[in-house]
Amino acid sequence: MERTTPVAGPRLILRRLRDVMARAGTAQERLDQVVRIVAGEMVAEVCSIYVLRAGDILELFATQGLNPDAVHRTRLRLGEGIVGDIAANERPLSLADAQTHPSFAYRPETGEEIYHSMAGVPILRGEKVLGVLAVQNRTLRQYDEEEIETLENVAMVLAELVASGELVNPEEIKPIDGTGLLPVRLDGVQLNGGVAIGKAVLHEPRIFISKVIAEDTALEQKRFIEALGVVRADLDRMLESDHLGHGEHREVLETFRMFADDRGWVERIREAIGTGLTAEAGVQRAFDDMRVRFSEISDPYIQERLADLSDLTRRLLLRLMGRGSVLDAASLPDDAVIVARDLGPADLLEYDRGKLRGIVLEAGSALSHVAIVARALDLPVVGRVEDITGRVEPGDPIVVDGDNAQVFIRPAEEIQQQVADTLQAVEQRRRQYAALRELPAATRDGVAVSLRVNAGLLIDLQHLATTGADGVGLYRTEITFMVRSQFPDVEEQAQLYRRVLDQADGKPVAFRTLDVGGDKVLPYVESFGDENPAMGWRAIRIGLDRPAMLRRQLRAIIMAAEGRPIWIMFPMVADLAELRQARHLLDLELTRARGRGTTTPARVSVGVMLEVPALLWQLPELLREIDFLSVGSNDLVQFLFAADRGNPRLAGRYDTLSPSVLRALRNVVEACKRANVELSLCGEMAGKPIEAMALLGVGLRTLSMAPGGFGPVKSMVRALDLARFTGYLDALIGGSQRSVRDSIRLFARDHGIPL
Ligand code: PEP
Ligand code: MG
Repeated sequence: MERTTPVAGPRLILRRLRDVMARAGTAQERLDQVVRIVAGEMVAEVCSIYVLRAGDILELFATQGLNPDAVHRTRLRLGEGIVGDIAANERPLSLADAQTHPSFAYRPETGEEIYHSMAGVPILRGEKVLGVLAVQNRTLRQYDEEEIETLENVAMVLAELVASGELVNPEEIKPIDGTGLLPVRLDGVQLNGGVAIGKAVLHEPRIFISKVIAEDTALEQKRFIEALGVVRADLDRMLESDHLGHGEHREVLETFRMFADDRGWVERIREAIGTGLTAEAGVQRAFDDMRVRFSEISDPYIQERLADLSDLTRRLLLRLMGRGSVLDAASLPDDAVIVARDLGPADLLEYDRGKLRGIVLEAGSALSHVAIVARALDLPVVGRVEDITGRVEPGDPIVVDGDNAQVFIRPAEEIQQQVADTLQAVEQRRRQYAALRELPAATRDGVAVSLRVNAGLLIDLQHLATTGADGVGLYRTEITFMVRSQFPDVEEQAQLYRRVLDQADGKPVAFRTLDVGGDKVLPYVESFGDENPAMGWRAIRIGLDRPAMLRRQLRAIIMAAEGRPIWIMFPMVADLAELRQARHLLDLELTRARGRGTTTPARVSVGVMLEVPALLWQLPELLREIDFLSVGSNDLVQFLFAADRGNPRLAGRYDTLSPSVLRALRNVVEACKRANVELSLCGEMAGKPIEAMALLGVGLRTLSMAPGGFGPVKSMVRALDLARFTGYLDALIGGSQRSVRDSIRLFARDHGIPL
């Protein structure tokens, strides 16, 4: 394989392009000159430019080296051939032998059969593809990184030319949605529940850079550093402002702020400017590079870091272009629904909360920072709505239905009315549930039930007060770890747990030790790509294999207690030996704390989550050694049925309300009673009134649930005649029905129990 050293540095090419752009002439003439310059400087026999036209067609607009007759004749669909592949995937390709590439599409009119190697880059503007720039050589040439970067710089210049509208009708470049101004309903995924109606506000319509090539590189470097300083100061100010409070959304912003100090990122921008770009173009180039590099990685954590970077990039660009704030606060309507491709946490916090109603995004995942902040602000969010930014016009009426993961743009009058009715009904129900707050959670026949909430973020603790719950039955500690970029040290963990206990104000909180691994990957903990993540190296299995990590967490909980009683539970325990090992680590930490004179907790209650079916046959032995048992029905049920809990195709294959699950739970209840060990259940079942009713029927008396289920479950409890229902359910469980759900529903209907 032959290697050719490029004869020109990127700066030289940019300088020559600047001259071309400054000269008089049509856009087409400029394109023709660009391909000649690039081919010459890069020692490529071919240089071609394809421009994206209406209907997702890539048309050859200029070439040096291919048959000139092919210009404006050769057309490829987006995704077709290597050029189409580059455009469709928005990333560069460099191929020493292009003809063996699976995407290769031969076009006889071009005469390209004699060229073997090829490198191409997308022409991007505001993250939209406008075309492709490619070079080819006869030999099996390996294009190096610097050459690809040179092509990317040229592509940035070309983007401005294409966008000028001189080459193709500007209408062709505009996204075609085919929807006109008709009402549209779009599906996405729920990032936060709730329903809202308001007016669409397009979050920062894309920023376009008009000047790409630098006159004075030193000056551009200086401009960049100055702008970075201002952006950092802005973020510091946001962090200092009072309205942030002390929830994880603040930590999220702190993590985000750290990005602005990331040396690698800053260096990449400086290098890009060093190649002859303006500061603006350098910032954009560094972001585009990262986007390409990360685009193949579906890991939600990485994608979220990209969203953070996009937020920072935009802040910098605005600064550099002399446009102060990200937002024009005065023009924000009173009922704004923010529509964005993606949104960073800082972006969201910059909007006036009083005017925000909801958020719709093209990107996003449930763990995204924006979702966490939106939860804190109690805003409905629908994510992964395809091309929402292209389909909505500013000011359009828009409905965000977070509960059903859908969005209505310009909804018909009836839908708007329906949503208004729903909002009213939601409000009414909220008031009814709030009224229940002070009433005891006891059945009609006087059986007291303990209702608790599940939590994972500090912000969730507020639900203890709003619901009147008895405590936190499950605190999923991993959630905080997942929104961070590095492992929090003991003091940081202790600080968080201390705040949790402070806010719980004496009510019990069951801290579950880290349940990561499998699909809940922490970027700073090695993972092994388990084939069956739910049954893989996760939870206590990691904790026992990495005892230092588990010990640090236990130490933090002990420190946080400051003498208060604590409840600790271990997830995914499969046998007694695992509990003993975990307990041993806890004892070591308690001894260590005593040795150091740290005030130890008044009482340490140790619990196990019943999630692995094997434990069902070790209960008598297990229960002798623990203070409480909490059924993790989400995992337990998926393992009992060997059916992935997240696979929608399996959802109809089994029912949690089957006699097998309920019989198993009834046995657990009896075993705990015999052993005098506290029992609770903290899986999703607990928060669904019909399932909670069945749980009470088999003897459970403590349920811990997502806060949203609290009101409905409490209403059910207060209407239930438990003795009567238990007899009814016993008979059903003894029978051979596949599911007892319908029968319970009938009972509830006949006895006026709201489900
Ligand atoms: C469960 O498995 O029921 C549970 C509560 O744990 P998680 O949903 O966090 O796996
Ligand atoms: Mg679980």
